[in-house]
Order: sequence, then C-alpha cells, then structure tokens
Amino acid sequence: MGLNNPSQEAVDSGQTPQLVDRFGRRVTYVRLSVTDRCDFRCIYCMSEEMTFLPRARVLTLEELAMIGRAFSELGVDKIRITGGEPLVRSNVMQLFRELGRLPKLRELVLTTNGSQLAKMAADLKAAGVKRINISLDSLDPRRFRQITRVGDLDGVLRGIEAARRAGIERIKLNAVILKNRNHDEVVDLARFAIANGLDISYIEEMPLGVIGDHDRAEAYYSSDQIRADLSQHFTLLATTESTGGPSRYYRIPGIGSRIGFISPHSHNFCADCNRVRVTVEGRLLLCLGQEHSVDLRHVLRAYPGDHERLKQTLLQAMDIKPKGHEFDLQTRPIILRHMNTTGG
Ligand code: SAM
Ligand code: SF4
Repeated sequence: MGLNNPSQEAVDSGQTPQLVDRFGRRVTYVRLSVTDRCDFRCIYCMSEEMTFLPRARVLTLEELAMIGRAFSELGVDKIRITGGEPLVRSNVMQLFRELGRLPKLRELVLTTNGSQLAKMAADLKAAGVKRINISLDSLDPRRFRQITRVGDLDGVLRGIEAARRAGIERIKLNAVILKNRNHDEVVDLARFAIANGLDISYIEEMPLGVIGDHDRAEAYYSSDQIRADLSQHFTLLATTESTGGPSRYYRIPGIGSRIGFISPHSHNFCADCNRVRVTVEGRLLLCLGQEHSVDLRHVLRAYPGDHERLKQTLLQAMDIKPKGHEFDLQTRPIILRHMNTTGG
C-alpha cells in the first residue's frame, strides 16, 4: 500500500505500535458488540420478526476477551460493551471481569436498555464498569411499550436506580427522538435526567437496516429542533467537553447534568473519529456508515492463540478506515445491517 502509515512505522522502529489511520486519526476507543439478541424490539433498531445469528457464527466470550486485550495493547484505552442487549448474553459478567483487569484500559463502559440492570448493576460496578449509557425514549409506560414493542418502563427505571445506588460514576440516558412518537417528551426527559443527577444525549435516528415500521425521513427530528425546544425552558451553554464519543455537549448553569446531541445528519462527526466497532460475528467495522471491514473471527479461528497475528491484523486494518460516512435519509439504506448487529 503506497500510503504512509505511522502505526506501521512504529512497529518497524520497535516502539509500542499504535492504531493510526491514513488520515492521522488515532483509534483509542472500541465498541464491542457481544450479542445481536435483545429482549426489546425498538422500532428504529429492529423489525418485529428478527432472525438472530446461530451460535457458531457468534464470537465466544473468550474470543471477545482476546480481541479486547489485543486492542488495549495497541493503545485503546476505552472499550464499550454493547449489542443487541449485552446483558442478556449468558455469563457476560465473565467478560466484564476479564476486561476490567486489563492494566492499560482506562474506561470499561456499557450501553444497555436497562432491563437487566436491577439485578446486575452491583456486579458491573465491582468488575470495573465506570460509566453506563441507558436507553430511555419515553417516560410514559404505554408509549415506552410502543417504541420498544415489548419493553417494561418500570423495570428500566428500577435498573437506573440500581445503577445509581451501586455508585456507577456517570450514568447517561440515550434518547432517540422521532417526530410524532416522542418529540414532545424532550423537555420531560431532560427534567428527569436533571432530577436524578444523570447526563442525557439526544440521538437522531440513523438509517441502519430496513425496519418496516415508519418512514425515517418523516420521523426525522433534528438536534437543532431539540435544542430549540429545550432552550424554551433552560439556558444551554455550549461546551468543548467530550467523553471520547460523538456527543456534542451543553451545560445548564448551576446544574451538574450534561446535555448531549448525537447528530449524524446535521453535524458530521467524522473528522475527529477515534473509534472502531467489532460486530458480534467478529467483523471489525472501520466506520459505522460504511462497509469497510476485516474478518477477525477468521484470524482467531484459523490461527488459534496467535496473539501477534491478531494485533498485526488490527494494525493493518487502519489502512482501510474510510474518511467518513454518507448517510442519506431520502434513499434506501445503503447499510443493510441493523443497529443490533452493528453495536450501537
Ligand atoms: N440494547 C442496548 C441499548 O438499547 O442501549 C445497546 C445497543 S443499542 C443498538 C445502542 C443505542 O443505539 C441505543 O441507544 C439505541 O437507542 C440506539 N439506536 C438503535 N438503532 C438506532 C438507529 N437506527 N438510529 C439511532 N440510534 C439507534
Ligand atoms: Fe434492543 Fe437496544 Fe436495539 Fe432497542 S436499541 S432493540 S434495546 S438493541
């Protein structure tokens, strides 16, 4: 490959190699999907009838731990466990404990729908989980059921409470806002976050997978609209804070909660992208909105125990990380995988 890759140069000169792409962006953050299964069927994420992957195609917990270790040895200091619903995978605590012991990992974090947190929050905290993102799109039980198709709001609220009591350092709510479904709850969700000492991020729907339920262009509710709704009730001050993810944060004077916006359509966040994803099948995705990927499961299974080969594969993958995504709500989704297989 003709392009200069600083990560490769580091290998040649004997320093600890780092993951740096062709555009000079350093990858320090990995989102690891541990299952495509879920106990909810959110309308923006899944269709009602889903076929899930057979077990043989899904990475084992040991394989997931090996990938986590390889990344951390290459300078990744933050791993987010996601899915599907990560907490429905059996024995998943074993993986949290293994990753929690990696000496160079600064942050082990989790994205969950909250349904299992009431029983697992204390164990997660003990394993070293510092921050948890919990999806919450509505505070109305009937609406919550409609959006998740099967979810129980009360169970999620108990999960949030359990995470707070367990002493998780930062809890952030993630709310996907859809026009005419929950856009009128933007302010109530912020009030709930503030009252409970939580952060909140509002997410624009992304066109991942054919979902059949609603027209995504019609349901589009932009971050600018959400911010305008909030500004009628709160003073929002833009900050330069970052938690290493794609949220842009605002603060309300005198309030501890941060208000974030994840806006793949209205504000392109590719230029400072520091992350990659690993799907539950072991596909290393270099960009959420593009298909560029590397098959890590093949490397793990064709060369069992060959840790150096796994690390070399990760280093070489940096050469195909694309510059950015190309989402467009007006056309059919170019990305046919659903969010639950991608790892949100
Ligand atoms: N099951 C967990 C949860 O719901 O938090 C983790 C996986 S979920 C795929 C991760 C995040 O992606 C959630 O906050 C969810 O709301 C969001 N999400 C799912 N599908 C989306 C879509 N099409 N556009 C934007 N966000 C989406
Ligand atoms: Fe499940 Fe999360 Fe997708 Fe909802 S967003 S269906 S909770 S994976």
